[in-house]
Amino acid sequence: MPSRSGQVFENRNPADREDLIGYFQESSVADAEAAIAAARRAYLQWRLVPAPKRAEILFKAAALIVERKEQFAHDMTREMGKVLEETRGDVQEAIDMTFFMAGEGRRQYGQTVPSELRDKFAMSLRQPLGVCSMITPWNFPMAIPSWKIMPALVCGNTVVFKPATLTPLSAFNFIKVLEDAGLPKGVVNLVTGGPDVGTLMSTHDEVKVVSFTGSTQVGRLVSQNAAPWFKKCHLEMGGKNIIMIMDDARLDLAVEGCLWGGFGTTGQRCTAASRIAVHEKVYDRFVEQFTRRAGALRVGNGLDRETQMGPVVSESQLNTVMKYVEIGKQEGATLLTGGHRLESGSCAKGFFHEPTVFGDVDPGMRIAQEEIFGPVVSVMRCRSLEEAIDIGNGVAYGLSASIYTADINNAFTAMRDVYTGIFYVNAPTIGAEVHLPFGGTKATGNGHREAGTAALDVFSEWKSIYVDFSGKLQRAQIDT
Ligand code: NAD
Repeated sequence: MPSRSGQVFENRNPADREDLIGYFQESSVADAEAAIAAARRAYLQWRLVPAPKRAEILFKAAALIVERKEQFAHDMTREMGKVLEETRGDVQEAIDMTFFMAGEGRRQYGQTVPSELRDKFAMSLRQPLGVCSMITPWNFPMAIPSWKIMPALVCGNTVVFKPATLTPLSAFNFIKVLEDAGLPKGVVNLVTGGPDVGTLMSTHDEVKVVSFTGSTQVGRLVSQNAAPWFKKCHLEMGGKNIIMIMDDARLDLAVEGCLWGGFGTTGQRCTAASRIAVHEKVYDRFVEQFTRRAGALRVGNGLDRETQMGPVVSESQLNTVMKYVEIGKQEGATLLTGGHRLESGSCAKGFFHEPTVFGDVDPGMRIAQEEIFGPVVSVMRCRSLEEAIDIGNGVAYGLSASIYTADINNAFTAMRDVYTGIFYVNAPTIGAEVHLPFGGTKATGNGHREAGTAALDVFSEWKSIYVDFSGKLQRAQIDT
């Protein structure tokens, strides 16, 4: 449906600015209001559809995404740049989440417990909340919407969905699947607008849940906007994740993990390993191998089979990366490899940057504290596990962390003492699976979790029900 304003915006390939993907509706506040009204109307019916029947639509949707996976991955690489292997993974995550949440249609367990009174029955069950606003970023343009939309739907809510303006095609592909799977009109409503639309979605009276994934800066605004209306507000925000490498670690494995964690998705994952703390006994050996391998990564268009790292998503993201490279140099860190924009040959038409590694980084430097969200990794020296854990915890964020070690005591100590929502042993900071809770502590999140059955807690509330079949007044805590 066209925007009421009649305005559109361009969507171009970050690997090749001459490649125009299409024009998309620049949704206005009036469009968002209409979407919320449609979601409200649809809620009155959708909440009454039995959950296993809602789930049947999700099962169909999952099967359709399987059929369309290759096309969706191709579209996604074109619009946001990450390599085809990774966009296939993004679509696969949406498939996994859709199947997983479809299964929840026959679960959503409550509790039945004995009442303290005779002839009285006591139980609790989940109930939906109503219209849910979903505001998402561009780096996982199909996976992240699926983490939010599928649990919301299976619980009986309806949805207004605003994707990042950089990735409207993947959002459209996803929503089209739901329509083709038979989701009734108005149950999910797509608005492709910017911050003004997001603001309305965080404040509107009819919206009961705001589920946001994006930067901490915008998450704070969303939280402030939603608070006066007592909306349930679920925030997943920035990260500054660490890999800790102990002196007993398998270095070859750690190098592989750091390359994938640091430069996968061009470092543009909320869980990206942008910090590495290495025990001083193995620091030089690690840095030599890691720097050589990072410098040899093949950068290019994500649709090219040979490419290992794609472009950054936009000009402004590229400028941020270049700004932080300058900050790192000024702070006195050692630039070990990279540090430049790539502008020649196959990189001439896009936003490409070299994989960049800084060594001798002090944990207090800005490059080790602030989220860069690009292919820049800071390597720090540590003398012990305790020091590595202190460095790990010494940032504002708390999403993901990992340790490479052969010592089970080190592994369990770190698992216990690193304060993040996700932790890995002998694997990098990325690689979450849909059936476990996903989210972070401190400035990364506000205590909720996506994925797993934890997601149901965001999109439902508990109702406790007491049925008295005694035929007389029984007073709890008074009558015995
Ligand atoms: P962003 O915060 O700029 O935008 C996120 C979304 O918010 C977009 O849809 C945007 O249009 C919208 N928005 C902008 N202003 C708004 C406002 N005033 N009110 C409501 N909505 C508004 O983030 P981004 O650049 O799209 O994504 C990168 C960020 O996302 C990084 O910080 C990254 O760490 C984070 N992220 C976090 C997770 C996680 O699960 N913790 C996952 C992926 C990305």
